[in-house]
Amino acid sequence: MSIFGNSIFGHKAPDTAAPAPEAASAGSAPGGKGVEKSDAQWREELTPEEYRVLRQAGTERPYTGEYWDTHTAGVYQCRACGTELFTSNEKFDSHCGWPSFWAPLAEGNVRYIHDRTMGMDRVEVRCAACDSHLGHVFEGEGFGTPTDQRYCINSISIRLVPQEDQQVSGTEPEK
Ligand SMILES: [Zn+2]
Repeated sequence: MSIFGNSIFGHKAPDTAAPAPEAASAGSAPGGKGVEKSDAQWREELTPEEYRVLRQAGTERPYTGEYWDTHTAGVYQCRACGTELFTSNEKFDSHCGWPSFWAPLAEGNVRYIHDRTMGMDRVEVRCAACDSHLGHVFEGEGFGTPTDQRYCINSISIRLVPQEDQQVSGTEPEK
């Protein structure tokens, strides 16, 4: 029986050598990597209104957005980075003037920040992948949804991919 052969010398070598500076950062979105772009890049890629809401935590005016009254089946992606954030299954009519969901597509796709600006005590919702502002989440309003939460999301922060258009890109059906 060789102790040296396996346990001690066999493996374990490179463990200390590999630096992992990123290891502690980011709330690990299931999709994978975080999206990091400079402010100048965001300004270039987004329209001024998208930039104002997504990157400066602005809010679109109620009843003006694209999706507040939308019932189309599909998935809502982050307008800035494409991460899938919400689906039509959790969308409900709150009549507040913004698209409302009672849950995100998956916890981990969004992150939460305590927001005490504007004299209010709210919870801001951001895209976990690119840290763009999406809206706020409210709780206990009595909407009768499974969670009694209302993710009040700016239309301009998301993009609907209707169900019939959804193709899982790059994957061929198994034979
Ligand atoms: Zn994003």
